[in-house]
Amino acid sequence: MILFDQIIFGPIHSRRLGLSLGVNLLPIDAKICTFNCIYCECGFNTTMHDLPIPTRVQVRETLEVKLKEMAAANQIPNVITFSGNGEPTMHADFEGIIDDTIELRNKFCPTAKVSVLSNSTRIHKPSIFNALKKVDNNILKFDSAIDHTMQLIDRPTDKRINVQWFIDHLKIFEGRLIIQTMFLRGEFEYEKFDNTTNAEIEAWLKALKEIRPQQVMIYSIDRETPAQNLEKVTFAELNLIAQKAREQGFEVSVAK
Ligand code: SF4
Repeated sequence: MILFDQIIFGPIHSRRLGLSLGVNLLPIDAKICTFNCIYCECGFNTTMHDLPIPTRVQVRETLEVKLKEMAAANQIPNVITFSGNGEPTMHADFEGIIDDTIELRNKFCPTAKVSVLSNSTRIHKPSIFNALKKVDNNILKFDSAIDHTMQLIDRPTDKRINVQWFIDHLKIFEGRLIIQTMFLRGEFEYEKFDNTTNAEIEAWLKALKEIRPQQVMIYSIDRETPAQNLEKVTFAELNLIAQKAREQGFEVSVAK
């Protein structure tokens, strides 16, 4: 599994985002998330408690040093991406950190976009909602519109969260969001699943029509996963799914 061992990492070439400078607001030696996805590249959630996370001041200072350094080397990032070892919106100062990042971006690399990759579980919190509305790419996960599949793949730590909850809250962005969906199939804890079946795609498209995202990003497994017996969906299959969404008027990008 891959853990990010710094607050600021990269820049790295991202499949979906270009030259991306990453920000990790979570511990550097373990993953913490409000999901526990079976495909997570960072592995399953840690059982350790009270792990240190960076403060708002530390994030600001470290980011400033890195952006100055990159500007001096004429290496301008396409994007500053919040992802890291878990769910970035779990940080108590998330909104303040986004404000600082936008200020630093405007000063050192005004063409760079600020992106957040979030699993959507904390968008009901006003400060998280406000922060996500300020960023350029508000990328929110929505892996299945069928409850049982979503629970099996994403494994939310709060079992009260269901698909309807996500749809109701994602709609509140009024289209100012990008939906990201991981397609995969396989078996986990003796149960087979596949979020590419006709029933899954039909439910997913129906949900997208309600959510009305500005864009949809779809992808499949690319690296080692913590659960075994997972199968990557081929690029050709992803393109067929993308085509169905495009026919409904959505802008769709497919990651190889
Ligand atoms: S939401 Fe992202 S960080 Fe959290 S478990 Fe899933 S893949 Fe990992």
